[in-house]
Amino acid sequence: MTIKEQPKPPRSRLIANILLAVSGLFLLLNLFLPSLFASGPAGVPYSLFIHQVQEGEVSRVSVGQNQIRYQLKTESGDPGPIFITTPIFDLELPKLLESKGVEFAATPPPKNSWFTTVLGWIVPPLIFIAIWQFFIARGGGQQGVLSIGKSKAKVYVEGESAKITFADVAGVEEAKTELVEIVDFLKTPSRFTQIGARIPKGVLLVGPPGTGKTLLAKAVAGEAGVPFFSISGSEFVELFVGVGSSRVRDLFEQAKKQAPCIVFIDELDAIGKSRSSNGFYGGNDEREQTLNQLLTEMDGFAAGDATVIVLAATNRPETLDPALLRPGRFDRQVLVDRPDLSGREAILKIHSQKVKLGEDVNLKAIATRTPGFAGADLANLVNEAALLAARNQRQTIAQADFAEAIERIVAGLEKKSRVLSDTEKKIVAYHEVGHAMVGASMPGSDRVEKISIIPRGMAALGYTLQLPTEDRFLMNEAELRGQIATLLGGRSAEEIVFGSITTGASNDLQRATDLAERMVTTYGMSKVLGPLAYQQGQQAMFLGNGAPNPRRMVSEDTAKAIDSEVKEIVETAHAQALEILKQNRELLEAIATQLLETEVIEGEKLHSFLKQMQSVTE
Ligand code: ADP
Ligand code: MG
Ligand code: ZN
Repeated sequence: MTIKEQPKPPRSRLIANILLAVSGLFLLLNLFLPSLFASGPAGVPYSLFIHQVQEGEVSRVSVGQNQIRYQLKTESGDPGPIFITTPIFDLELPKLLESKGVEFAATPPPKNSWFTTVLGWIVPPLIFIAIWQFFIARGGGQQGVLSIGKSKAKVYVEGESAKITFADVAGVEEAKTELVEIVDFLKTPSRFTQIGARIPKGVLLVGPPGTGKTLLAKAVAGEAGVPFFSISGSEFVELFVGVGSSRVRDLFEQAKKQAPCIVFIDELDAIGKSRSSNGFYGGNDEREQTLNQLLTEMDGFAAGDATVIVLAATNRPETLDPALLRPGRFDRQVLVDRPDLSGREAILKIHSQKVKLGEDVNLKAIATRTPGFAGADLANLVNEAALLAARNQRQTIAQADFAEAIERIVAGLEKKSRVLSDTEKKIVAYHEVGHAMVGASMPGSDRVEKISIIPRGMAALGYTLQLPTEDRFLMNEAELRGQIATLLGGRSAEEIVFGSITTGASNDLQRATDLAERMVTTYGMSKVLGPLAYQQGQQAMFLGNGAPNPRRMVSEDTAKAIDSEVKEIVETAHAQALEILKQNRELLEAIATQLLETEVIEGEKLHSFLKQMQSVTE
């Protein structure tokens, strides 16, 4: 849908530079050419000419700008040879000529008359100014003097051919419903203003990266058929103080001219960070000014004014300045979350329209295997699968291509080059089998689908893949404890088999501890501490398993209690994991031996192994 995209590519700047050079050359020529022409032979000295006039020897005179041509009287009366002299500024000359009865006239302007000279002096600067204006009007190039302070907004004008609509976005139904209303505002603002409703000015799209926020904003513009100004928050913030705010001013000026339209500010957090949280930089004047200008502009267009709707996107709403979220600014917030199972299937359907699918491809099965994937990940998945099929010289994409693409994306590319020593391999094998066995015996935990000791990606030496049988939004205490035990399963296996532990389990421990801490401080699952939230603010759900928020100010006693509760949860889980593995020691050996042989165990084979597990007798 990018019919017209500004700013112009560097090519047009090149043309401008050439134009500038040409007009400069023109200017120089005008300076020197006249004097070149004029510096021909001066002819008769002016004094001699005057003398000849006074003596009555001259018959006709033609007075020009740069020279005087004249003829002398001859006895025969025939016109004689033409003499030339260079005139001196002399107002008396006409009088003198008249008094002597000389026939005289002014020469019509020759090539280098005052007219062309004036033209030569005035036109090049005009060209120069025109180019300057042109570039300023178009928002300038990427950098350079011409563009300072001017908005770098890209303007998308929807075209019929590549228009993005809501049909191109899937899996974010709630967000779509909210935005349909915005489309109505843009299409028929009068319907709302007539009964005195205030059209919302700002809509904030909140969600993790790649969930389709930018896509949704474009779809709103496409549905409403209005221009779409897009700029990224980080582009406002520049080295020079004052540039950002003038960019904001300029952007809104442009937008108002094109109203109704949409202004889309991506990465709003880059400018909209809370002004109080400037940290040790001692205040960032530039960003603050830019933010203030943005607030001013949003307050600026009142009801009945041009319909400019500001859409903004961020994945860190908690860092935004509260002033931005006040009524009349970004008072509407739309959550654009990761898609659920059916949403993922719908997104896959959209993106697989562009590729050739084989007959065995089952999009639903792919969707089941990709929990947590955002829209952009799924788009990437389809492309990866297509690449794999092409690499294998196939005409269509097979289900197996998707399976491999998923693994690639989930665990990073296979690193065949990384070679483990035999002992390392053995440790990794027992470690992973430990995860799998504990995981398999935990209540409500995901099914273990695959164990592998082929190193992948950056961190993992091996991995255990658990797939949920359904999408989960809520977990109970037992399930969380089960997850912690599963995380500790790897280390527990190392302890049992080798009697020592390696550094390989550090990531597991980190995750287990974080989870336990969240159980106590966020989910209120500790009997000792009660249903209190000890963490500050709300952990944004969609941000996933990020680092825990900073703790609320708590008394020293409470802090100690939290620590001991967390420790208790982790230690209980550890003991549980040890117990399970000890109880099934032979099976642990059997699976690990098999794993060392084949490097990967998955599917039915794995299930039949894990079915042999004995439940822990207590
Ligand atoms: P965000 O702005 O939230 O980071 P984008 O809108 O830039 O994400 O998404 C990047 C790409 O991923 C889109 O161009 C589109 O191809 C794909 N995509 C993301 N979300 C969706 C979705 N919900 N439906 C269809 N495609 C999506
Ligand atoms: Mg985006
Ligand atoms: Zn592990």
